[in-house]
Amino acid sequence: MSTPVVPIQRYRWLRRARVVMQLGCLLLFLWLFSKTDYDGSDTIDYAVNLLFRIDPLLALCTMLAARAFILLMAPALVVVGLSLLFGRFFCGWICPLGSLLDGTQSLLKNSRSGHPTLFPSLAATILLAVLVAAALQLPLAGYVDPFSILVRALAQAVYPALHNLAEWFFTFTYQQAPPWVNALTEPLYAFLKAHVLPFQRKYFDLALLSMAVLLAIVSAEAVQRRFFCRNLCPLGALLGWFARLGVTGVAGGTEACGSCRLCSRICRMGAIDEQRHINPNSCILCMDCLVQCPRQVIGLQMQAPGRRGAGLSLSRRRFIGTVLLAGALPPVLGVRRLTAAPNPELIRPPGALAEDAFLQRCVRCAECIQVCIGNGLQPSLLEGGVEGLFAPRLVARTGYCEFNCTLCGQVCPTGAIRVLSLEEKHRSKIGHAWFDKDRCLPYAKGVPCIVCEEHCPTPDKAIRFREVVVVDDSGRDVPLHQPYIVDAFCIGCGICETKCPLPGRAAIFVTSDGEDRHPDRRLPANPGGSSSGYGGY
Ligand code: SF4
Ligand code: SF4
Repeated sequence: MSTPVVPIQRYRWLRRARVVMQLGCLLLFLWLFSKTDYDGSDTIDYAVNLLFRIDPLLALCTMLAARAFILLMAPALVVVGLSLLFGRFFCGWICPLGSLLDGTQSLLKNSRSGHPTLFPSLAATILLAVLVAAALQLPLAGYVDPFSILVRALAQAVYPALHNLAEWFFTFTYQQAPPWVNALTEPLYAFLKAHVLPFQRKYFDLALLSMAVLLAIVSAEAVQRRFFCRNLCPLGALLGWFARLGVTGVAGGTEACGSCRLCSRICRMGAIDEQRHINPNSCILCMDCLVQCPRQVIGLQMQAPGRRGAGLSLSRRRFIGTVLLAGALPPVLGVRRLTAAPNPELIRPPGALAEDAFLQRCVRCAECIQVCIGNGLQPSLLEGGVEGLFAPRLVARTGYCEFNCTLCGQVCPTGAIRVLSLEEKHRSKIGHAWFDKDRCLPYAKGVPCIVCEEHCPTPDKAIRFREVVVVDDSGRDVPLHQPYIVDAFCIGCGICETKCPLPGRAAIFVTSDGEDRHPDRRLPANPGGSSSGYGGY
């Protein structure tokens, strides 16, 4: 026998509490997001990656793929426990993407709540596929997880755009507006720079792709309310699965309701069917039906733990088809990896685990990419294979790995990038620099330039120069410094490539050759023992 747990008149308060909680969680998320940035300190003092560490989908898939318990992700157990108590409350009360979609819906004002869920089995199918792939050590969860999608778009597109917009606006007011306007705008700009805007202007390769995914999710609100949550979200499907084992739920209307189906029409998740049964897999405890029911027959109820709802709600055919298809993916992608030589352009952050273990743990959250001081980390496209999409790699022409920085390891929520001490970081070799002597000015043109040598941050200087005399085009002797690389000291940070003054392709470039993650990728020993590097580079 079930028992009502809350007097009916209190539901109104509970709904207000839900809205306040959503707003509070959204603000907390945005605040933590803004703190995922260099602010002058060598350490990140807040749990900026908290959202990813409480995500049961990412935790389950990452641990399955890594075949290890990852302590960093243990907080996800709290959400699992709470879901067993309160069902899918996380989607209605906490999830920042859900709150963003609810906010969008209030702007659109074209609520299509009551429409039947368009693809009722799709979210569960996606969940099953990512679980099967993860069990076979192919982690796909980061591509479909709501937090990864949201943070990628905010970090790579929205935040940099905000920075550009603010810079443009405040430069305009500074140059064009009368002094009394500046007396207002300058303090405001100083405040925004200190607390809201990113530390510096950044550029990201896949910003438009990341933004397009988020925009598609937000735009789908015009088709159906909470379209993503209902039809696509594998995290929601997982929490819904826990909810059916839960002890708290919403009990729907009865035959006594007559022809009234208001609850079914207003439910943003389409959780209430024509018979007014409430599906715990879908109900996110938003409290709308409890508050609006004219007869007040809907109520929160406690019951003995057990199976309610429809499980994964997949037909046997779909279940088997999904398992077979997802199961076939790892061996199919593995064929390419067996044949492909290591990509020299794939330079992972310092502290990254060996490539396979790194990809198994990386949840494509973009925390490392966002925090990177030198703007060196960029999301990969296909450089690391299909399975490496959105994982971080250093693109040294765009930015570099700052010698005294260990932030990416500090913010990684899964340990895909280890936390390095500064001493370890200084010794960590992520790649190696090479000269293109056909472009390097002192070699190719007889023009003096030692920009790369000046920027090399290693204490013993991995770039040095020889003093030579060359004959220029008019036959004159020109004394020059010709730079060269000392293999033993180069750590592949890429600042030489970033700072090379040539337009377009730099005359010095960094590859992943020699990175210390894989012993088999070490550079051949320098046969002559000279410090000029093997092969004369
Ligand atoms: S890649 Fe280098 S600069 Fe970027 S966050 Fe990591 S340690 Fe810092
Ligand atoms: S490596 Fe970067 S993108 Fe991947 S999980 Fe760690 S912080 Fe997130």
